[in-house]
Amino acid sequence: MAEVRSHAEEIHDQFADRDGFDVTVDEIEERLDTFVNDYQVPIDEARQTVTNNYYDQTKSDPESLRENNEHRDIGSINTADEWVDITGKVVELWESDADAVGQVGLMGDETGRIKFTAWAKSDLDTLEEGAVYQLENVVTGEYQGRYSVKLNSNTRITPSDETIEVGDNTTEVEGALVAIQSGSGLIKRCPHDDCTRVLNDGRCSEHGEGEGEFDLRVKGVLDDGYDVEEVIFNQEMTEDLAEITLAEAKERAMDTLDTTVVGDDIRADIIGGYYRVGGPKLGRYVLVDEFERLGTRGDADEILIQARSL
Ligand SMILES: [Zn+2]
Repeated sequence: MAEVRSHAEEIHDQFADRDGFDVTVDEIEERLDTFVNDYQVPIDEARQTVTNNYYDQTKSDPESLRENNEHRDIGSINTADEWVDITGKVVELWESDADAVGQVGLMGDETGRIKFTAWAKSDLDTLEEGAVYQLENVVTGEYQGRYSVKLNSNTRITPSDETIEVGDNTTEVEGALVAIQSGSGLIKRCPHDDCTRVLNDGRCSEHGEGEGEFDLRVKGVLDDGYDVEEVIFNQEMTEDLAEITLAEAKERAMDTLDTTVVGDDIRADIIGGYYRVGGPKLGRYVLVDEFERLGTRGDADEILIQARSL
């Protein structure tokens, strides 16, 4: 309770001198409280939602409030186009062949990892692998459900002597598999080095037409009666989940001259089952690296009915 109140006070201070802002701390607290206690939304997300609404209401640009950035845990970043401060360790630097990019790599803190990009034209200090930095004024971005941060000419980089043990956002969720999303089953990926994009009608959005390499995956939605979570089973997990190997899947597709038959078969086998899954959460998705089937379709219906009636 006290926590919600102090968030409400901070939000109020942040917008207090903005035109068109006439909301009291009590009203902000009430909105946060609804998210957190009625809908079980994590406080950080609730705060983000409420804050975004006030940006709209006061027609103010998040950039103009730059000095009031929130210092965020890397694992909590789940919105694009937000100005934030982070402190993290450079886990990995990648080569970039794009001239516009100065540096690109992966940065992490205890709560997770995130891709970062520094533009060449921003003329920033170079980040060293293994070093810890405080980064003020970075902008969040999103691509296909994965979040990133962009360093820009407003970014302030301060080396830090903090020790950081980088975590991997591992989470566990359980629920009924209520939906299988398109792009599940037997898919083809771009064979280009470091690309692996899923081909759409035999085309990669970056590299055009190509032969492609077969892969198996399931993108699904787990529902625990309160909340839904999007999950991705990779080839190995899908083989366990649907009890089919990639080779068998290819054979089945070949027999019927139709790759969608595999997705349809898998769907029929697993939809409605009740699962517990674990793995790192990257953007919207939990990338499943272990799972357990807790019940069949009937059990799942029963559990959902019970959960909803609580
Ligand atoms: Zn490609």
